[in-house]
Amino acid sequence: MYTSSLYSNEKIIGQMNNFGLKQVAPHILDILEIAEREQITYKSFLSMVLDTEVIGRNEKRRRRNFAGAHFPPAAKSLEEFDPSELKGGISKSQINMLSELDWIDKKCNVLLLGPPGVGKTHLAVGLGLLAVQNGYTVCFENMTNLIKIFDEAPYKQKQSFRLKNLLKASLIIIDEIGYVPVTREQANKFFTFISETYEQSAMIFTTNKDVTEWAELFGDPVITQAMLDRILHHAKCFSLEGDSYRLKHPDLFSGTEQRKNVLPDRGKN
Ligand code: ADP
Ligand code: MG
Repeated sequence: MYTSSLYSNEKIIGQMNNFGLKQVAPHILDILEIAEREQITYKSFLSMVLDTEVIGRNEKRRRRNFAGAHFPPAAKSLEEFDPSELKGGISKSQINMLSELDWIDKKCNVLLLGPPGVGKTHLAVGLGLLAVQNGYTVCFENMTNLIKIFDEAPYKQKQSFRLKNLLKASLIIIDEIGYVPVTREQANKFFTFISETYEQSAMIFTTNKDVTEWAELFGDPVITQAMLDRILHHAKCFSLEGDSYRLKHPDLFSGTEQRKNVLPDRGKN
C-alpha cells in the first residue's frame, strides 16, 4: 500500500531520475509546493509534472538538433531578412508560406538560385533555424564540405557519422552548389546521395548556377538529368534577383558587427 510519509524529498527526486524523468526531477519540489499551496486537483498536479517533463525534453532535443545542424557561425534568422532589398524572385508572402514548413513533412525541396550576395544562404539558414525551432532535425553543409564528407566517409569515423546524420535529417541544406568544380566520381557520389534522400528528406539547395548549367558543372549530362529529375520532382524554385547586399551595405560588414544569439528561445513542441 502506498504511504506518502515513506517518501523523502531525496527519495522522490532519486526515483524520478531512476525512471528517466530527468527534466521534471529538479523541479518536483517546487511543483509539490505549488500543488500544496494552491490546493490543485490530482489531475492538474499530474499534468504539471508531465508538462514539465515534456517541455524539458523538447528543449533538450531542440538544443541538440541546433548543435547537430552545423549552421554557419553567422547564422541569421528569417526575421532579419528584408525581401524589399531584392529586385525579385521571392516575396514576403512566399517566405511566409515557406515558414509554415509543411513542405518539410511532404519531403519537398526548395531551390534558391541567384548571384552572390542576394541572401540565398541567409534564407536557407533562416528556414533551417525555424525548422530546428519546430522540432525538426536539420543538417547544413556547403557543397565543398559535402564532397569532402563523401570522399572521406569510408575512412574516417567522424565523417561517416556525419553522413549518417545527413541521411536521417528531416531537412538537408546544401549551400553553394556551383562554386567549386566537381569530378565525375564526386558527381556520382552526389547523385547516389540525392537518390538515397529522394522523398525521404526535404532539401534546400542554394546555387549561383541555373539548373541548365548543372550538366557542365557535374560533367555528365545523363547523371545530371537523373539528379535533377529527383530534385525538381517536388520542388519550389526561387530565382533571386538583385545586387549584392554586402556591396550595398558595406558598413554592416566592417567586422565590428556583433551577432546576437540566433538560437530561438523556445520550441513549439
Ligand atoms: P548569398 O548566399 O546569396 O551569396 P548571403 O545569404 O550570404 O548571400 O548574404 C550575404 C550577406 O547579406 C549576409 O550577411 C546576409 O545576411 C545579408 N543579406 C543578403 N540579403 C539580405 C536581405 N534581403 N535582408 C537582410 N540581409 C541580407
Ligand atoms: Mg551563400
